[in-house]
Amino acid sequence: MRIAGQVTLNDLPRICPLLSRTNNPRYGDDETRPVEVRGARFGGDRPVVIAGPCAVESHEQTLAVAHAVRGAGADMLRGGAYKPRTSPHDFQGTGLEGLCILRIAREETGLPVVTEVMDTRLVEQVAEIADMLQVGSRNMQNYPLLAEVGRSGKPVLLKRGMAASLCEWLGAAEYIAKQGNLDIVLCERGIKAFPAGEYSRYVLDLSVIPAVQAHTFLPVIVDPSHATGISSMVEPASRAALEFGSDGLMIEVANFSMGEPKCDGAQAIDAETLARIVKFARAHYERQVEAERAA
Ligand code: PEP
Ligand code: MN
Repeated sequence: MRIAGQVTLNDLPRICPLLSRTNNPRYGDDETRPVEVRGARFGGDRPVVIAGPCAVESHEQTLAVAHAVRGAGADMLRGGAYKPRTSPHDFQGTGLEGLCILRIAREETGLPVVTEVMDTRLVEQVAEIADMLQVGSRNMQNYPLLAEVGRSGKPVLLKRGMAASLCEWLGAAEYIAKQGNLDIVLCERGIKAFPAGEYSRYVLDLSVIPAVQAHTFLPVIVDPSHATGISSMVEPASRAALEFGSDGLMIEVANFSMGEPKCDGAQAIDAETLARIVKFARAHYERQVEAERAA
């Protein structure tokens, strides 16, 4: 039986001629095309750790977290100025003011910044400050937005839609690539599958990492914070992601002495835990290099 619109991984060469391994033999079976973000190199030699608050709430909160993130040894700063929230009555982020705060955090810490853009009309504004544009899970199939971030020329962090298949995810990445922008990093952030919501926020799909790597040359990282929704799970999920070959991590961090974050506090970790994860990521890489040398 043929079903309209049904696609499988066999259709990838047709859906993603710019990104599929099949159509781009120069990357061979397992080579990754590195994506450079002001010194942070995804898919390069070692995992990239992005960390920061869920939302940019204030100058004090963001700067405190940013300095803690740098102190913990992370490579990049994250923080949403524009937040996609389930309720329109909830805190929506600090918008342009938040972007200005991120600019200061970037200058003070020297860390490259990734922040989410949700609106085609704001891509230019966000791209002026961000070193990397984040397209969130809810917007993974917002095709005009994908085209616009593609045209911006900035590296893009494309989160997986929470109910997206691998084909749909790579198809979304192809919209960015079609604009001539191959600087795309994929981010697995948990999917809606049984029993999501019962004892974790989503289901962290670690199996997708080797699958992504088998089908495209784009780097792929993992967001253990949104995937689990529980701070105590973030560290083990980070380790597991690295064991599965993730090219990096994106983690939410809070400074709890400044009060409960306005969003996602239950999944935020402190700077000390982040430092342990960074240390594990570095040691994991060293072990891999050592194993390859011995082989
Ligand atoms: C985020 O990383 O800030 C975020 C909102 O995540 P997601 O789009 O994966 O829900
Ligand atoms: Mn969040």
